[in-house]
Amino acid sequence: MMWTVKVVGLGMLALSLSLELLIWLFRRLKPGRIFNEVLFFPSEIVCVEHIFTPSSPYSCICSLPHGVETSFSRLLHHIMSASNSLDLCVFAFSNMDLCRAVLALHGKGVTIRVLTDKDYAAITGSQIGVLRRAGICVRCDVGSVYMHHKFAVMDGRLLITGSLNWTLTAVQSNTENIVVTEEPDLVQPFIKEFHRLWVHNDPARFHQSHDIKPAHVIV
Ligand SMILES: [Zn+2]
Repeated sequence: MMWTVKVVGLGMLALSLSLELLIWLFRRLKPGRIFNEVLFFPSEIVCVEHIFTPSSPYSCICSLPHGVETSFSRLLHHIMSASNSLDLCVFAFSNMDLCRAVLALHGKGVTIRVLTDKDYAAITGSQIGVLRRAGICVRCDVGSVYMHHKFAVMDGRLLITGSLNWTLTAVQSNTENIVVTEEPDLVQPFIKEFHRLWVHNDPARFHQSHDIKPAHVIV
């Protein structure tokens, strides 16, 4: 009888220690929950004024529904969360609320770099000119194929990527998706890709290669 009690006791102790070891390992390997969110569009059309004026969230009197969280309001919230940098790589950018968000970040001193497609930067309604006139650094892809990415990285920490162009049609009419994540294994390759494209499409580099050509011809 005593022997059985001892075996059961030792077994329970071993089980308890194993469980504690597992919890310790889990906490050590995963110090905090990594933020992930998936958003689908089209988004319901609601007022998003409170995101731009958080100090007076109930001041808007427009006719749209207020106080409703949507995919678009979540997207705006994530973009506005940037405190140091925003690297944006987007094919088409004509959405005025998204433009307003980028301008607001620029006004707060957030470093912004925008990389876009040269053909779509010139279409009617594109907000790229507005960003440039505000003093935001914009580079257009110089390649012969479309620069078709749609991703943004905030503070080198938070990635937004998916099918969504930054247009009104994409937000309000199309079936689209975005993934918002802090997962380093996903964020880091996008930072690397942005850097690669940013350097590749540096206008100085482009002009330089043109300057060099005649010299090569002479030689
Ligand atoms: Zn409103």
